[in-house]
Amino acid sequence: MSAFNVAKFGGTSVADFESMSRCAAIIENNPSTRLVVSSACSGVTNLLVELANGVSEASRRVELLENIHAIHEAILTQLNSPDATRAEVQSILDTVANLAEAASIQPSAKLTDHLVACGELMSTHILTQLMCERGISATRFDIRDVLRTDDNYGKAEPNVEMIAQLAQNLLAPLCQQYVVITQGFIGADDEGNTTTLGRGGSDYSAALIAEGVRAEGLEIWTDVPGIYTTDPRIAEKAQPIPEISFSEASEMANFGAKILHPSTLLPALRHDIPVFVGSSKAPEKGGTWIRHQVESSPLFRALALRCNQTMVTLRSANMFHAYGFLAKVFEILAKHKVSVDLITTSEISVSLTLDHTGTSGGAPQLPQAAREELEDLCSVEVEQGLCLVALIGNNMSQSKGYAKQVFGTLEDVNLRMICYGASAHNLCFLVNESAARLSIQKLHKELFEN
Ligand code: ADP
Ligand code: ASP
Ligand code: MG
Repeated sequence: MSAFNVAKFGGTSVADFESMSRCAAIIENNPSTRLVVSSACSGVTNLLVELANGVSEASRRVELLENIHAIHEAILTQLNSPDATRAEVQSILDTVANLAEAASIQPSAKLTDHLVACGELMSTHILTQLMCERGISATRFDIRDVLRTDDNYGKAEPNVEMIAQLAQNLLAPLCQQYVVITQGFIGADDEGNTTTLGRGGSDYSAALIAEGVRAEGLEIWTDVPGIYTTDPRIAEKAQPIPEISFSEASEMANFGAKILHPSTLLPALRHDIPVFVGSSKAPEKGGTWIRHQVESSPLFRALALRCNQTMVTLRSANMFHAYGFLAKVFEILAKHKVSVDLITTSEISVSLTLDHTGTSGGAPQLPQAAREELEDLCSVEVEQGLCLVALIGNNMSQSKGYAKQVFGTLEDVNLRMICYGASAHNLCFLVNESAARLSIQKLHKELFEN
């Protein structure tokens, strides 16, 4: 087989019958595409997360279930032979109803993963039938048989070696015969319990699967024609980037550019698989190629925004010229499995942000037990309602003068926790949620629109 390609379609790309049909056309147009990774239909995961968080009112549960049913039924009615697929979807909906009831009594991360996985399990039944009705020899594959993870429900870590082995044994041979349609976002632990890779995880799944089957290309089909200089929903003059390096795109994803799940490029980088990002609504508009080597490395590449940040500030006079204070802080955080994202320090204080949470969403919380232990050491202040603004570029730590341009543009904005210098690829800082969009718009105008 030549140039084996994996294509991933996000939620809006499989939102309804017309969108799914556009995906089918994209798959048909490229005979190298043998493996398709699909998200849940748009909106479904959010509804499932609400159920998984525990809805005590039975009438609200029924309402949510009806919404989920309606999204799928609207597509099913447009198929020529929907009966068998409708029965599969209905059986998954029955599972959703049972799990939602259990979650209303006692929600848990394990139950959440089992429940939210149902979105991808349903969408892939429908997409497979739609493809078959167009005359494509397509088959549906349950990715939980390949995508092995640990049992960190909500943000499971993949077992890369196991995935490669299972993909070679189970998936690759099937792709010789069929166009295989499978689920993003979900996996299973060693005991066969369903896990998820965190919100937006289908991109990461697609990259892990592409790595596992040793694909030569990965396409991420979404609702925008590629990666832009910033989220085009925030700055309307954002420009598409035709070509970007793995490291720049990784920084963007890490700093919140929703277009890619933060871990997506790790597998692609490990196997040097070029990644294409395009719009399933307008494939003719082209998109962005993410590659190892790119022609240009501009000082400013893009701006990213990540909201829902939790900042913890620890203060203690004992920190002044003392040793071991930070070690103690991090020992407590590690003991309570609190993952730290950014950090800045002064003589008597240290501010840090907490890493994003998994599938159940919201701002990350400092566990009460961790807070109590920290309070024995120092004062603890926790702030939320903050967003992280990141400027991504190249050779930034060697360039002079641009910080003045950045901070001058934002002279009216209260900037917090500025991180600058540790990476050659970014400059980032926190702002209040209310100033976040305006900060991006002003910076974009100053740095990218001239
Ligand atoms: P999908 O459901 O296909 O995975 P997402 O909603 O997760 O789609 O990601 C696509 C969205 O990412 C776009 O609609 C856009 O609003 C947002 N986005 C954020 N940053 C960027 C960026 N730099 N370039 C393009 N889109 C971006
Ligand atoms: N359906 C999941 C979500 O909405 C995964 C994804 O779409 O990438 O987060
Ligand atoms: Mg996404």
